[in-house]
Amino acid sequence: MEDDGSRSGSAGRAAAIVGAGPAGLYALAALVRSERFERIDVFEAAPAPYGLVRYGVAPDHPKTRNISRVLARGFEHTRVRFLGNVSVGRDVTVDELRAGYDAVVVSTGMLGDRRLGIPGEDLPGSYGASELVAWYTGHPQARAVELPANLTSATVIGAGNVALDIARILAKDAATLRTTSMPRHVVDALAASTVTDVHLVARRGPAQAKFTSPELHELGALDGVDLVVDPADLVLGPADEEAVAQNRHAKVTVDVCREWSERPATGAPRRIHLHYWRRPARILGETAVTGIELEPTRDADAPVLTLPTQLVVRAIGYHGRPIPGLPFDEAGGTVPSQDGRVLAHGAVVAGVYVTGWLRRGPTGVIATNRGDANEVTESVLADLDTLPEPPSDPDSVDKLLAERGVRVVTWADWLRLESHEKATGDAAGGDPIVVHDLATALEVIDAAG
Ligand SMILES: Cc1cc2nc3c(=O)[nH]c(=O)nc-3n(C[C@H](O)[C@H](O)[C@H](O)COP(=O)(O)OP(=O)(O)OC[C@H]3O[C@@H](n4cnc5c(N)ncnc54)[C@H](O)[C@@H]3O)c2cc1C
Repeated sequence: MEDDGSRSGSAGRAAAIVGAGPAGLYALAALVRSERFERIDVFEAAPAPYGLVRYGVAPDHPKTRNISRVLARGFEHTRVRFLGNVSVGRDVTVDELRAGYDAVVVSTGMLGDRRLGIPGEDLPGSYGASELVAWYTGHPQARAVELPANLTSATVIGAGNVALDIARILAKDAATLRTTSMPRHVVDALAASTVTDVHLVARRGPAQAKFTSPELHELGALDGVDLVVDPADLVLGPADEEAVAQNRHAKVTVDVCREWSERPATGAPRRIHLHYWRRPARILGETAVTGIELEPTRDADAPVLTLPTQLVVRAIGYHGRPIPGLPFDEAGGTVPSQDGRVLAHGAVVAGVYVTGWLRRGPTGVIATNRGDANEVTESVLADLDTLPEPPSDPDSVDKLLAERGVRVVTWADWLRLESHEKATGDAAGGDPIVVHDLATALEVIDAAG
């Protein structure tokens, strides 16, 4: 589209995107395509882009992680900037962004975990999935995870792909992780782990589990791992039969679990046990996790199952955290919105939008965020001509960041860090190895600059 020099063209218009995960970067692509903005700035708390594609998708799934190449394309445009290492709400407020940009699209995802709400949840050795995942993917703000020295049994609560990822990473031969992007101190910790049994615990049955087929098949094909399933858990009731008839994934899960339940044990060094129809009632231990009690959810007469375990990971769903200055629905962990327009007490907050997990909750695959971002971008474009002109411009935000001493990581900086990661990966004969701490990331950038 031609610029006509008025504010109905792109002249002078600026958009800010907060969060460089898939949702933010799909929104970026759509906003670039619209040619309605002279400048689009992407603010990101981490020193690197891509959100959970980098700090969530399992390191042993490099093909999925490679979606980052597609997501990077938005930054090829000269009118787009990356401002990494800038946490909105801490380094600059949403209101300060609103003062400098016509539209602000927030896509900060979900950073925390839902809680089980049971005794023992805060004992050392009990983690949320987001903590364990942040650790093994090398997120700079990850809580240090220490696998217990006496670890023989780990328990993962949850029936989705995140639970499968964690069970797989804990159970698989760590030697196979040496060619992945996983930081080396994490591979070393996993290699030193003496775990022999990983228990996956699901509140309902195989027909209701949210596992997807490739991930299940992958689990069943792990070297050195036997799968253990109680055939009694696989007996289907009428509701299960209906779920299997209607849902391809449910059928695959039931079929795969049946096949596993019939496999003879091979005496493999590690086992993954699937416990369906169980919910955790209590995590046991005085000073650290020593066990877990699992109540039956289907057969009320079944006894409570007590498993000795030294590590408990709850993978029952990510949960958003409020961004200061934005309305927040605590129950859902999302920002209330209509067609992506942020709502405060039911009224639209002019010029502020939300997309991705923060809009709809932690559901769907990476590509789901593209449709979501496109929808939200349509709202942005529909509103654009009627939005109030911001009192200032993006330079005012640059100035604030400089005054506050924020070390902004630019796209050129990120490319330097990325080259370094690639070089270390090449030297090890594998994928780029993630630099997991901010100080080292900044040193690498400065040394290459
Ligand atoms: C463990 C795990 C594994 C997954 N594996 C797969 C998979 O294999 N395949 C698949 O299709 N999907 C997978 N998913 C789902 C997929 O990752 C999500 O659908 C997607 O990442 C959600 O995108 P988002 O942009 O909404 O959030 P995110 O990816 O979380 O991106 C949000 C971004 O906002 C940034 N941010 C947060 N707060 C601030 C702030 N205050 N200021 C600035 N920036 C901020 C974050 O650092 C992050 O970069 C996985 C999810 C998880 C949790």
